[in-house]
Amino acid sequence: MTHANLTELPVALKIKKVVDETPIIKTLYFHYALNSRPGQFVMVWLPGVDEKPMSISEDIGDGFAVTICARGDTTKKITELKEGDQLGIRGPYGTSYHFEQNENIVLIAGGYGAAPLYYTALEAAKLNCKIDFIISAHKKENLVFLDKLKKFKGLTLHVATHDGSVGIKGRGTDILKKIVEQKEIHRIMTCGPEMMMKAVCDIGDAKNINTQVSVERYMKCGFGVCGQCVLDPMGIRSCVSGPIMNSKVLKMLDEFGNYQRDENGNKIYFDNPSMK
Ligand SMILES: Cc1cc2nc3c(=O)[nH]c(=O)nc-3n(C[C@H](O)[C@H](O)[C@H](O)COP(=O)(O)OP(=O)(O)OC[C@H]3O[C@@H](n4cnc5c(N)ncnc54)[C@H](O)[C@@H]3O)c2cc1C
Repeated sequence: MTHANLTELPVALKIKKVVDETPIIKTLYFHYALNSRPGQFVMVWLPGVDEKPMSISEDIGDGFAVTICARGDTTKKITELKEGDQLGIRGPYGTSYHFEQNENIVLIAGGYGAAPLYYTALEAAKLNCKIDFIISAHKKENLVFLDKLKKFKGLTLHVATHDGSVGIKGRGTDILKKIVEQKEIHRIMTCGPEMMMKAVCDIGDAKNINTQVSVERYMKCGFGVCGQCVLDPMGIRSCVSGPIMNSKVLKMLDEFGNYQRDENGNKIYFDNPSMK
């Protein structure tokens, strides 16, 4: 199918294939030329339920994929869909990760953050980048794309689990600290829980390494009109100036690593989610 070039309107797409990644995470494949770049997202609409932002986990020209974690009502319903069912898709939207030919890059993922970084690795490998890929989770069963990454030729995979069930016992950032001490790294790219990404920025900034972050905020329109996803204090819209943002910009934003806003604009603090 060709690209409709109407990114503000959803196109109805049939799910071509569904793959179980973990007990609560599934990848949905579509036959459609999205023309995206790694780090960008689409809005996924389940008619009669809701529409949600999802990062693109693969784009192979005439097909793409999204990898969805069943967290709440909408994502649970979407992950129950089967091959042949339809979803509305708008996009691609937002900024993408940046890397150049022959660079040494580190990709560090937590949870479903492995999905957009897998797509990034596929594209970076085409530019002959040397890739260190770090994935982490509480336990082995929660690691996303472990098998795919193990088979990825030329990529160095590092695994951390909090319970030590596979890889090192500890955090992905423990591995990152060692890598940046051992060799020259041109860029770090991260996607995962915000407190993990904040720690990644601190490590990257201390070594003056270009560090790019996928900032997740509550998004409604996805293309800069509604203002739902603005970041304090500058009012930057994360759907158009992000989701991929540089750590230098994030340093100027009080709310990064501190709080996010819910669908009504109330502040939800990361260290105390019940405090608004
Ligand atoms: C740029 C971007 C890329 C994302 N990529 C992925 C991805 O690849 N895979 C994936 O599983 N999830 C991704 N998410 C998160 C995903 O959009 C939310 O988990 C999902 O919207 C939850 O909806 P729900 O109705 O199932 O859960 P709810 O119970 O409504 O919410 C569960 C959690 O998701 C947050 N959330 C709910 N609605 C939105 C929304 N419209 N925008 C942002 N956060 C929301 C809530 O604040 C809450 O923290 C991404 C979010 C953004 C902003």
